[in-house]
Amino acid sequence: MDSGTVSKDQSSSAEQQPDAPSMFEVKAIPLKGIGLVALQDIPQGTLIIQEKPLLVAHPGAPDALEILLSSKLKKLDKPSQRQFLSLHNNFPGKHPFGGIMRTNALPCGSGSEIGAIYPTICRINHSCLPNSQNTWNSDTEIETIFAIKPISCGEEITISYDRGGPSAARQAFLKQAFGFQCSCAVCSQSPSLLRESDNRRSRIQELDDQIGDPFRMMQNPVESLKDCHSLLQTLNAEYGGYPGALMARLYYDAFQISIAHGDKARASVFAEKAYEVRLMCEGGDTPEAKKMKNLAANPSAHSSFMAYSSKWKNTKKKLAGEVDEEAFERWLFRTSD
Ligand SMILES: [Zn+2]
Repeated sequence: MDSGTVSKDQSSSAEQQPDAPSMFEVKAIPLKGIGLVALQDIPQGTLIIQEKPLLVAHPGAPDALEILLSSKLKKLDKPSQRQFLSLHNNFPGKHPFGGIMRTNALPCGSGSEIGAIYPTICRINHSCLPNSQNTWNSDTEIETIFAIKPISCGEEITISYDRGGPSAARQAFLKQAFGFQCSCAVCSQSPSLLRESDNRRSRIQELDDQIGDPFRMMQNPVESLKDCHSLLQTLNAEYGGYPGALMARLYYDAFQISIAHGDKARASVFAEKAYEVRLMCEGGDTPEAKKMKNLAANPSAHSSFMAYSSKWKNTKKKLAGEVDEEAFERWLFRTSD
C-alpha cells in the first residue's frame, strides 16, 4: 500500500501470488511502486479479492509495538513472514515492523483502531476517486475488495484510505498517516477543477455534520431530509455517479430521520436502497448489509421508531399510481413539502 511519488523496492512482485486469480495482476506501476492492475473488464459489484489478515495489531508506543509485531511475526510461517517483510515501508528507521504496519495496515472496520495486514490487498494503492472499496466483514473476519464502478482492462485497482474533506486536508492526513504524497486523478487536476472538487468535498462534510445533528433531526426533519437529498446530488457530482458506501450511509441517515417520526413507507425504501448499495460494494453477507435488509422488511423494528414524533405516521403504500423517477425522488425526500 503506497502511492504518490514515493519509490519502493520493486524486487517483490507477482511471483509471490501463485494463486492470484486472472482478474488482476500485481505489478510495478510507474511512480507508484507496486499495485494491482485489472487483466479484464470488471463490472461494478464484482468481488475482486478477499483475504484473511496475515496479522492484526492495536496501535501502541513504537518500542512496545515493535516487540509485539516481532513476536507475532515469529509465529507466522515462512511464506507469510516473507509477504509481510516484502511490503513497503514509508517510515524507515529503528522500528521497521512498525513502519511496515503504519504504511500498509487497513482498519478492521471504519473507525476501528485495530489495523490488519494482508498479503495482496495491502498492495492496492490509494485514490481520492477510487474504483473499488475495501470492507472488513466482522462476521467472517475477512477483508473484501469490490468494484464500485466498472473497471476497464489495464486500469489500476484503487481504494481510498483518506477520511474525506478537501484536498489539503486529505493530503495532510495521507502524509501523516501513511507517509505519501497523493498524486491521484483528483489531486492532480488543474487548479480551477481542483477548487470545484474541494468545494464539493467541503460541502459533503458540512452536509454530513448537519444531517448527524440529532436536534435538527428532531425539530426540523423536513430540512434534514432535504440535506440528505443535497448530499445525494453532491456525492454523485463529485464521484461521477459512483460514491460507493458513502451512499449507503446517506440512505441510512434518511432512514433514521423518517423512522424517528414514524414514516415506515419512506424508511423502508431508504433501507432497501442502503441494502442495494451495500450488496454492490461489500456483498450481502456483512452485518451492515443484513441489518439494512431486515429494516427494509420491518422498518418499525428499529429502536428509534417514533422516538421523536408520530407526525409522519402512515401505513399506506409508497405512492399511488404510476410515477416517474423524479416524482418518486421528490416524494421520497419530501423536497416539495
Ligand atoms: Zn488524491
